[in-house]
Order: sequence, then structure tokens, then C-alpha cells
Amino acid sequence: MNIKTIFLLLLFVSCGKKISQNMIFPTDQATLAEKEVIMRAVDQLQTNFQDNGVEVVLRSIPYHVTSSLPDNIAGICVYQENGRPVGIAINRRVLNDWMIESATHYGFLYKALLHEIGHCFFGRDHDDGHLEISLDLFTENSMDLSVMISGGLARTPKVLWPYYVKEIAGLDRINTQDDLMRFLRDSHVLD
Ligand SMILES: [Zn+2]
Repeated sequence: MNIKTIFLLLLFVSCGKKISQNMIFPTDQATLAEKEVIMRAVDQLQTNFQDNGVEVVLRSIPYHVTSSLPDNIAGICVYQENGRPVGIAINRRVLNDWMIESATHYGFLYKALLHEIGHCFFGRDHDDGHLEISLDLFTENSMDLSVMISGGLARTPKVLWPYYVKEIAGLDRINTQDDLMRFLRDSHVLD
């Protein structure tokens, strides 16, 4: 079986994508607690897709936690030559408490998982689209147009999460601040 891997890069690594031939899917080193955290996130994402009418069965592949990835790699999607996904492995570093979720942000784990799901289930490649914004609503003054960014995983305001899920499935795309305002109006964030 010829297996390729797409790495999700974390923090300041600029290289977008690396393909590794014959990469072995890392064995699962998850503790019971880690397994629970990661599968809760997978099930939340499943609900997000279902709410948008997207048919995908996220539990059809295994999700492993591993310490064997380099520190700057948040996760990997391992897939076969024919594009069929083998599994997703998440770097144990991404499971640090503050990276999971908060009242206002979905943390790195959700973003790393959605990114790898984009590779594994939707055949998505990296996408570094970026928009400068000036809105009181956000502390950030820019936003990624997709979670498929090749590096620099930022935390994502929760109000934008439904957009990122739709964007992965090809159901929406924000390119301008007008698009963003339309999305925020439609999701009643501005009410
Ligand atoms: Zn990637």
C-alpha cells in the first residue's frame, strides 16, 4: 500500500505541505482521557457538518494521538495513493488544555482536526487566503479565509466557526469584508 501524508504545520513554520512516501500511520498513544477529548471534538465536527446537510462519516477512519510527530507538526492526514484516507493523527501537544476550546474561541485541536478532515475527506489542498478586517467585533485585525492555511494556526473566533465548516465543504467563501458582513448578518451575529 502506497501511503502519502500531508502535514499540518504549527506556529511559524512556513513550508506548506510535505508529502512523505510510505509513511506509516502512527500507532495510537492516547490515554482514555485524551481519547475522550479527541472523539468529543470529532463528534462536534460531525454535528457541524450534519447541520449544513453535508454527508460525511468522520468516524469511518481512526483518530490517533501521537508523540512521534515533530513539535512543529500539529497533525497529519495519512492517505493512500488513490486518495482514500487511512487515518488522522494529532500531535499530543495540540491537546494542551488551552488549545482545546474556550468561551470565545475554538482551540487548536478543533482547527487542526478540521484542517486534516479537509485533506482526508474533502481532498482539499492548502489555502493561504487572508483578509484584513477592521471590526469592533473581533480583537483580530485579519482572518484566514480557510482553515486550510499551510502554517501559523491562529485561534478562530467561535462566531466564524460555522463559516469554516461550510468553507471546507465548498458551501461558502468569504473573500471581502462585504462577504464577511453578509455572513455575520445571515448568522444573526450582528442582531
Ligand atoms: Zn495541511
